[in-house]
Amino acid sequence: RQKRFQSLRDRPAITKDGVPIALMMNAGLLVDMPHLDESGADGIGLYRTELQFMLSESFPRLDRQTQLYRAVIDEAGGKPVVFRTLDVGGDKVLPYLRQPKEENPAMGWRAIRMALDRPELFRLQIRALLKAAAGRELRVMIPMVSASYELGAIRALIEREKAFLTEHGHPLPEKVLVGAMFEVPALLFELDAFLTRVDFVSVGSNDLMQFLFASDRTNARVASRFDVLAPAPLRALRTLVTAANSYNVPVTLCGEMAGSALEAMTLIALGFRSLSMAPASIGPIKAMVLSLDATKASAFIDGVLKEGAKDVRMSLQQFAEKERV
Ligand code: PEP
Ligand code: MG
Repeated sequence: RQKRFQSLRDRPAITKDGVPIALMMNAGLLVDMPHLDESGADGIGLYRTELQFMLSESFPRLDRQTQLYRAVIDEAGGKPVVFRTLDVGGDKVLPYLRQPKEENPAMGWRAIRMALDRPELFRLQIRALLKAAAGRELRVMIPMVSASYELGAIRALIEREKAFLTEHGHPLPEKVLVGAMFEVPALLFELDAFLTRVDFVSVGSNDLMQFLFASDRTNARVASRFDVLAPAPLRALRTLVTAANSYNVPVTLCGEMAGSALEAMTLIALGFRSLSMAPASIGPIKAMVLSLDATKASAFIDGVLKEGAKDVRMSLQQFAEKERV
């Protein structure tokens, strides 16, 4: 099997009916980078910058961050890299950062909320990213956005860092794209405002499902109680991907879902054309894509959601078996 996936490495992921699917990989440390070439992924769809911060003994200084991000971009050798800004809080703790004790940390002071309240840490990271990508393209992604207005504040902070660097004679990236993670269901009800403020979107399905089902992703007792292949989450995802496509905003999904064949098939059927996953999933997912008729799958999922099938997962499973996906 491994060999078979290896032989697919240089084949583009295109469905039987000719729809190209971008398969990106998730990473978080420099040691992950060789997987980009080995797996044949199209780029890094999610670079979790907090991992380096979690391993560090103190808050990494500007130069250290700049070096690291530059090395990541160099290692990617021209393939796109999406840097997610610090996503700490919740279950991710930095021992050296004073955080308040919270009853519900997953819904607490985390990610973008910290960035907006304590912009000095965020600004330092942005400055490092801007310096690291000088003369090249920079893609920054903001985690845990809950309301579209937050993006205005984030963009203002980024502009301020650009101005600072220019003032001090530093070259800027050739292009800066600012995207957001789609992890909080409230955004579904202000898609227009949200989609006009982002350059790209990536669904964090781990968190989105946690909040959609009010089911703690770290609590084994409840985490597997709800199926991501059920009508409610699938309609939520379809609403988002349809809106994003109509706004020409590139949309991808970088949670666990993207790395399982049946889930990935369903995401393509819903309209996703880009997925980001662990490097080991690239081969198996590519094999699935090559055997899939996306038009047929779309018609099938639309039918299933319209009829309100009792067991959506089983219906999808049967479709996949019949079609030999
Ligand atoms: C997610 O929430 O799906 C995601 C990709 O981010 P993380 O798992 O790091 O929270
Ligand atoms: Mg998340």
